[in-house]
Amino acid sequence: MSDDLTLTGITEPKTRKRATPPPLHWADLDSERRAEAVAEIGMPRFRADQISRHYFARDSADPESWTDLSKTQAERVRGELMPPLLSEVAVVDCDDGATAKQVWRLHDGAVVESVLMGYSDRVTACISSQAGCGIGCPFCATGQQGLTRNLSTGEIVEQVRLARAAASEGRVGKPRRLSNIVFMGMGEPLANFARVAQALHRIIDPAPAGFGMSARSVTMSTVGMVPSMLKLADLGLPVTLAVSLHAPDDELRDTLVPINHRWPVTEVLAAADRYAETTGRRYSIEYALIRNINDQDWRADALGVLLQNRLVHVNLIPLNPTPGSKWTASDPKDEAEFLARLRAAGISTTVRDTRGREIDGACGQLAAAQI
Ligand code: SF4
Repeated sequence: MSDDLTLTGITEPKTRKRATPPPLHWADLDSERRAEAVAEIGMPRFRADQISRHYFARDSADPESWTDLSKTQAERVRGELMPPLLSEVAVVDCDDGATAKQVWRLHDGAVVESVLMGYSDRVTACISSQAGCGIGCPFCATGQQGLTRNLSTGEIVEQVRLARAAASEGRVGKPRRLSNIVFMGMGEPLANFARVAQALHRIIDPAPAGFGMSARSVTMSTVGMVPSMLKLADLGLPVTLAVSLHAPDDELRDTLVPINHRWPVTEVLAAADRYAETTGRRYSIEYALIRNINDQDWRADALGVLLQNRLVHVNLIPLNPTPGSKWTASDPKDEAEFLARLRAAGISTTVRDTRGREIDGACGQLAAAQI
């Protein structure tokens, strides 16, 4: 199914047996294909816009509740074009109700997570792009599971629709519009480039083609898959790029982010610079601070030198430890010193708020508990 899985440095899916692909879904289709799809089930092509308005403008995937379709038409749409893709198997609230973490089971039993976070000024959904992950970062719960498979465009977009519906129902505070999306759940989004790029269109394209959200409010994270970063730049969508660097030197990064063997630090930053030049957007450097591993003063200084004169912002992330793992968050004193050194070097830097710590908050932990 995927051309994306053969790139050097990424493990193959755990099972080689060809799995049944997810059923076709409205969100898999672009506007032209939607008109063809309604015609194929014996409905006039103009119905495509109606259906899209329900799905993308009203966040509804329940044809039986739409008053402009007959019962038979609704059944046909449900059966052929809008089958349920995600069923909720667990949800955990924390941060006094401002965070909700959901675990979804997919049609083939694969499990993924998404997280909804309400802040004073925004509501953010963190969504998954793969079931499991093939990158294998040793400090990450998802990385320990390996890759099960890529999510389809529909499975990615459904996480967004459900997050939008939940935000407007007041799931994480007062009812509000979902404002931001971060591709920072399970998986390496750029290893599933084609489907993620389609999903970006559904998120950004104006209704009824898509949800009409601002590209600037979407963050795409990557461990540094250089060819896909360049392809993302070529899409010309001004989404925010977040590069998970975690170390300024190849020697350490080779162990923390194994794909660094294939695309080392200088190549990753060159691709990120190209992204910034093409889109005019500052990119972010994500740096998980791991006690006694990458939090030394000299590494802060080295990172400061590396990022001089680049259009970047650094997010320091206190590591959310996986149970039983030797990897843990830096001492707060070391975190403060790391931050101070970067700022002294003139690098715009903040410490990321870590939501969901009390609910198996490290990426992939809650889903791992359901497998
Ligand atoms: S940190 Fe991200 S890229 Fe690395 S294994 Fe975990 S999900 Fe994959």
